[in-house]
Amino acid sequence: MQPFSKFKCLFHNLLQQGQKTLQIIDVNRNLVLLAILENDMKTYWLLLIFLFSISMSYAEGWRPGEKQILITINSQEQAALISELKINYDVVSENQIRAYVIPKELAWLDNSGIAYQVEIENLKTYSQSMQQIDATWHSYQDIINLADSLEQEFPAICAKHIFGTSLGGRQLAALKISDNVSVDEPEAEVMFDGGIHGDEYPAAENVIRFARDLCIGYGTDPDITYLVDNREIWLYLMVNPDGRVSVSRYNNNGVDLNRDWPYMWDGIGGSTGPCSQVESKALRECMYNNQFVVHTTYHAGTEKISLPWSYRPDQPHDWNHIYHLAGIYSSSSLYPNLTYAQGYGSMYPINGSTKDSNYGIMGSISWSMEISYEKMPPTITII
Ligand SMILES: [Zn+2]
Repeated sequence: MQPFSKFKCLFHNLLQQGQKTLQIIDVNRNLVLLAILENDMKTYWLLLIFLFSISMSYAEGWRPGEKQILITINSQEQAALISELKINYDVVSENQIRAYVIPKELAWLDNSGIAYQVEIENLKTYSQSMQQIDATWHSYQDIINLADSLEQEFPAICAKHIFGTSLGGRQLAALKISDNVSVDEPEAEVMFDGGIHGDEYPAAENVIRFARDLCIGYGTDPDITYLVDNREIWLYLMVNPDGRVSVSRYNNNGVDLNRDWPYMWDGIGGSTGPCSQVESKALRECMYNNQFVVHTTYHAGTEKISLPWSYRPDQPHDWNHIYHLAGIYSSSSLYPNLTYAQGYGSMYPINGSTKDSNYGIMGSISWSMEISYEKMPPTITII
């Protein structure tokens, strides 16, 4: 296998003008963290078109008969009803959600009179069909192997940390990339994670490619060299590796891990308690062991930046700062019109997200980056 050989990457200035910005983040807990952004900080983006690849032998995770449907919401009453039903969904736009429902839940919707369009008739069958397609996506094992090879080839700047094992016995691991990588230096710590929803392939792909480019570019690309020398960059490879293998949104307990986090947890998405799943606990350990000023979690299914809060409509304390940074991120992303807004949107609450927890508990600027309209686009272009 020749990983990455057909791809190229492009870095953009995150901040093109201005002086150092020093911002105090004072959240509604007791944490006060400093986020220091400098005018030469860079951001990294992928745009996607590539040929698929999945190397797996079985599918689990989706519930029997589960469908993917698109719901257009026409009123506050309908939004409230959806919220009461506690079905699993992602927000697609201001008036659309993509929901994942089993027959019993679909019957509730039918009784409510809410109109929907079926996008995928049977998610389990669909995920199994994905196994037949030849692969250029990196599989779970490819990603682990690549991470190991980066640690081996670049030991001065790259170290793999394993935080546990998934229900299916797979690694819950992150790469730390920084100069003096074995030392916890007084440098700004930033975090990227991918694959909390296992069927959203571009997310985990993005993270391992970012790791690859940081390692290869160190010492030759001045921007990468500066960042590696002056940041502690953590790349959490796959939050939900079992879902990655089974092409499922859920972990092997059928839980949506992005509803399992403790801040304003509300028991949706199959979660049985705040941070109830082993995969959530592993990611939490990585968060608690560090002091991340920015946490970026990658998703796919739409293209936008989702900002805290997702659990309530009120703006967070640091809204002006977060919104300003999101605007810079959007305009330098190479996406033609990458929207950014509070996750709650006009009517859709989501409780138990990593974003709300990492902002609400840890004080990180935490946002979800939705980087592809398709969860498994047939081809990819990385710009
Ligand atoms: Zn997602």
